This record gives sequence, structure tokens and C-alpha cells, in this order.
Amino acid sequence: MALNTETEGVIKYQLHHTMNKLPNYACINAINAWRKILITLNLLGQDPNRYAGYGFGNISQRLNAQEFIITGTQTGNLASLKTADFCVVTQAQPEQNRIYALGETQPSSEALTHASIYAQNPAIQSIIHVHSPEIWRNTHKLQLHFTPANIPYGSVQMAHAVTKLFNQYIQQPEAIFSLLGHEDGIVACASTLANAGGLLIQKLAKTLEIEYDLV
Ligand SMILES: [Zn+2]
Repeated sequence: MALNTETEGVIKYQLHHTMNKLPNYACINAINAWRKILITLNLLGQDPNRYAGYGFGNISQRLNAQEFIITGTQTGNLASLKTADFCVVTQAQPEQNRIYALGETQPSSEALTHASIYAQNPAIQSIIHVHSPEIWRNTHKLQLHFTPANIPYGSVQMAHAVTKLFNQYIQQPEAIFSLLGHEDGIVACASTLANAGGLLIQKLAKTLEIEYDLV
């Protein structure tokens, strides 16, 4: 675990943020529903014994060709989120390390990574980032795609690594991969939020199956 000395929650990108209410086409109910399930499974949330007590995991949903809604930074401790706890990324320039956002809270520190994934395929409608020690430590056994261990989250290097990963291996909108440079970091994306959530849960089941086999 020594490879990861960075903490969750620190925004590394250049943020141009407008403090304002979200547009009314940004619906949060489905995100809250999946978020509740992921909190129950300890894949998302906030725990004093994990990651120095920082919140972990985040969910986003594409709104249109350019914009997506994402959970706000350090909202992991909240059981359910109100509209004011979300943020809309109105424009993202991952290669320039820049994000334009709107909302009553700032976007997740991993919004830049979400932006670079949406840029890979217009059919990707939802992205879930969780922290699963079980899936992460079995990345190779599960034959998951991954970004390399020397690539930190929320960075321009991560934007490049994501582009390379999709160019080489991932053509479909449904995908799950590990961020080996981000302790326990797993990302699932899909054409719907339910598909992204389903992918994660199926992979977790497969992981537990492998680990039971080793007992
Ligand atoms: Zn994370």
C-alpha cells in the first residue's frame, strides 16, 4: 500500500466554478438510489479508518454532448444528497487540466477523470468510481484493464492514460477498469447508470468467488 501517498479529495485541476443553482434538467434521484446501494456495499462513502478519513467514490451522469452532473467534493459522509450537493461540469479540457463547473458545491476531485472518460465515447452516459480493495487487488486475476501504477488520479497523465486505454482495448460504452495508481480505485462506465452499477456488483461477486476459492 506504500505506493499511494496521496489523499483523496484534493482538487488538482484548474477549476472555473460558478456558484449557482443547478439547471432543472439535472435529475438526481437515480444517482442517489445507486449511491445508497454502493454505500451499503462499502464501495463509496466516508470511513475514519480508510484513506485518512476522506470521502471516497463518486458518480456522474451525462446530461448532453458537453455537460455532465457529478457528486460534489467531499460529500461521502452524507447518506443522501440534495441538489445543492451536486455540480454540473459545463465544459472540460482534460488535456489542459481545466474544468468549468456550475453548482452550489465544487465538483468531485475526480471530475477530470470522469471528463476524460466521457470524451472517449458519446454512448457513455454514466460513470461510477468506487473504492474496492477486493476488486483492485485482483485486477490481474480478473483480467481487468487498468491504468498504470505510476499514474495518479485526477491528473493530466490520467487523461492520457484513459485515452490510451480506450484506444487500445475498449470500444463499447460498458467497461470496468482499475486505477492502479489510486489505492482501491475502480471505474465502471456504461450506457446507463444501472448498467454501470450492475457491472461493478457482478465484478465484486466474481472477486469474492475467487477469494473464497483461496481460503
Ligand atoms: Zn477515488
